Amino acid sequence: MELVEVREGSARFLVPKAERIYDAPVFYNPVMALNRDISVLTARVLDPKRVLDALSATGIRGIRYGLESHAEEIWLNDISEEAYTLMKKNVLLNFEGELYEEGDRSYLWGEKLVVINKGDANRLMAENFRYFDLLDLDPFGSPMEFLDTALRSVKRRGVLAVTATDTGVLCGAYARACLKNYLARPIRGELCHEAGLRILIGTIVRYAAKYDLGVEVLLAYYRDHYFRAFLRFRSGAKKAEKSLFRLGYLWQDESGKFTYEETFLPEKPKAFGPMWLGPLKDEEFMEGLTKELEDFAPAHKKTRPFVELMREELDVPFHYDTHALARRHNLQVGKLAGIIEALRERGYRATKTHFSPTAVKTDAPFEEVLDVLKSLQ
Ligand code: SAM
Repeated sequence: MELVEVREGSARFLVPKAERIYDAPVFYNPVMALNRDISVLTARVLDPKRVLDALSATGIRGIRYGLESHAEEIWLNDISEEAYTLMKKNVLLNFEGELYEEGDRSYLWGEKLVVINKGDANRLMAENFRYFDLLDLDPFGSPMEFLDTALRSVKRRGVLAVTATDTGVLCGAYARACLKNYLARPIRGELCHEAGLRILIGTIVRYAAKYDLGVEVLLAYYRDHYFRAFLRFRSGAKKAEKSLFRLGYLWQDESGKFTYEETFLPEKPKAFGPMWLGPLKDEEFMEGLTKELEDFAPAHKKTRPFVELMREELDVPFHYDTHALARRHNLQVGKLAGIIEALRERGYRATKTHFSPTAVKTDAPFEEVLDVLKSLQ
């Protein structure tokens, strides 16, 4: 394969030359630089010792964990032979030392230990029980096929960083696939991204509970057609139950009004879920992330404003998309800033949300939001 050198973060590395990213023999998507920035920043805040990038492709994610965080032991893995060959090259480009090769695994002992493995991620994780402080799952599509082994391979107080790119499934375009893969009923329309993210977290919470693991959401978001969640585990049956009790259901009627309820089984019909109804960020973690970003030179230009937007965002379940609401009620839609201002003047909290540039997160009831829209005609 023909290779070209690219730079991202503090790394320089080789990627296959290709017309379109999905045609490349080894996958690299530059748009995911922001995802990798936030992942590396997470590692800088939490200081994990052992990190696994279970689905590495070019190795860029694991290499960046190695270069840009204090982690001491970095594992890269991919099932593809071509990816394995490329990962070895890229590790040598970024770390001092020699490769020691043993079967389908190579080691580089320098300032840090870098392990490069060729094999099935589930097998690797199963062989390394409760070993990793930070385990990153960045698959094509859904992470569900890797979830059980990841929950066994991560330490009981460890962190799981997980991507899902099957947005069509989680957002309700393929509702049956969502039932099958996530055991939940997705919603379509303006709430689909936030609900999809909450379904993903909710499913992880249910899987984790059987291992007596509770889940704390450090940060979860939707961006560029993917979902990403950073979840910290807490050990114990009580912790698992506490997380499970944060699951519930969502309802939405024709007017756009939504309701949600934390309950194990829904009593009303037409419920969407189950899904996580707890917070989507942890304030202390967000503070750490913001602080780390201050002098984090390798950050992509979009990373800072995105983290800032998420930090400011009101953390309540769901949001009102002003365009969708106006459409449902035959109204002209005013500027978002004016709507936020008007809600605040009425004594409510209201902020922008990263889920949509035309939506507001607020603790105001539906009727008030609609009234504000009408008053701004
Ligand atoms: N994490 C990479 C990054 O940030 O650039 C991208 C990873 S790419 C989306 C997914 C990778 O998973 C592919 O390279 C594919 O070969 C690999 N893969 C798919 N199934 C696998 C399995 N069962 N075990 C290990 N790797 C697998």
